[in-house]
Amino acid sequence: MKHILVVNGLEAPLLRQFGCDCDRCTDPAPQANTSISLISLNGTGATERHVLFDVGMAVTDNLFRSPHLTGRKARLDWLVLTHWHPDHVNDLNRLLVSYHLNRKRRDEKPTPVPLWCRRGTADWLQAEHSYEWIEFLQPHISEENHPPGVVLPPLPVALPGVTITPVTVSHFGADRCVADRQTTRYSCAAFVVETAVTKAVLLWDLDNQNEWIVSPQTPEQKTAVDLLSHADYLFIDTAFWRSKNHKRTTHPGFGNVQRYARALSPRQTMLVHLSGHPDGRDNPGWGWGNGRWQQEAQTVWVNQKLPGCVRVPHIGQEFELRIED
Ligand SMILES: [Zn+2]
Ligand SMILES: [Zn+2]
Repeated sequence: MKHILVVNGLEAPLLRQFGCDCDRCTDPAPQANTSISLISLNGTGATERHVLFDVGMAVTDNLFRSPHLTGRKARLDWLVLTHWHPDHVNDLNRLLVSYHLNRKRRDEKPTPVPLWCRRGTADWLQAEHSYEWIEFLQPHISEENHPPGVVLPPLPVALPGVTITPVTVSHFGADRCVADRQTTRYSCAAFVVETAVTKAVLLWDLDNQNEWIVSPQTPEQKTAVDLLSHADYLFIDTAFWRSKNHKRTTHPGFGNVQRYARALSPRQTMLVHLSGHPDGRDNPGWGWGNGRWQQEAQTVWVNQKLPGCVRVPHIGQEFELRIED
């Protein structure tokens, strides 16, 4: 058995903006990446399991094109959501309905797809995606409202040699109760996907208030930081370039990403959720494509002597989770 993480794309996480003429929005190629498939292949290379993390706009297109999931290889064993924001769930209907119809057509039992998310996210999905919730999903919900920096029990996903552990993070804008849209209801989780010898951390979306990553205070936060540390691959939300941290923002800028990377010391840092739009026209970051982001980030990485290396992954890029050395 071989386990790989495959990066899926979106047209843009902070949507390719209607009316924007920046280089990023006018580039026809999909560029952003805030969805990952964990695919298990057997000895002959056939796809045995597929766990999908997030399903934003255009993710289904990537799955169609994946050599591991195309046509009759298609399977979806688990759906795991970081949170309920539209750029992470927009393709739910298309994915679930088409998968369901194809199973029926092949006389396979159209069983619901197991879903893991936090209670805060489940409440939003039940309100805004009730059809998909009722018809196609089998929810496994973490019934908690823990503050940021708490390790939750591992997901009940049966993958030999692989553990998926959620860690709570705060994500201003998502952390509110669906009933009054105001009361704090923590909704977002990061995930640590690990084997005996490889660790990958999926750390998106999070706001710039997750200071527990840099200076953990409680025993729970210290445990969470230990778990997130020394990853082989850290996929991290980087919405903009500017490094001003003076106000609360829904995503970390590259300045905070540098601080998190120094604290967590990964071997490879992979920037995702790139946009640059919040930087504003004529500022660094505005309209940068992925190539420019990578080049600028690598210069900072060297100058600041940050751990490991930094890259912007491309759609379809594969990362092996080795089981043994
Ligand atoms: Zn979000
Ligand atoms: Zn997002």
